Amino acid sequence: MKKLQVPTGHSTGRIVCPECGNDKDFVEVAENVIVTSRYFQNNDGSFTPEESDTEIQGEVKLFCGLCDTDLSLFHSSFIEMIF
Ligand SMILES: [Zn+2]
Repeated sequence: MKKLQVPTGHSTGRIVCPECGNDKDFVEVAENVIVTSRYFQNNDGSFTPEESDTEIQGEVKLFCGLCDTDLSLFHSSFIEMIF
C-alpha cells in the first residue's frame, strides 16, 4: 500500500479534496460486508428480528463525491466527525 503525504494538523480542519476542492460530498465504500441477522419465528409463522450484526472484512475507503479521488487517508478523521 502506497503512503500518501499526510497533512499536518488535519484533526482540527475540514476534509477537503486535494484534487477538486470539494468539501461537501463524500462517499464511503466498505468491501466484503457480511450482515448476519437473527430472527425468531412466531407461532403464526411471522418473524421477529432479534439482532443483526455487520462485519466488515475488507477495507473501508473514502472517496470524493465529485471526482472520485481516493481520500481514504482522511477516513479516520472522517469517522470521528460523524454525528
Ligand atoms: Zn474531488
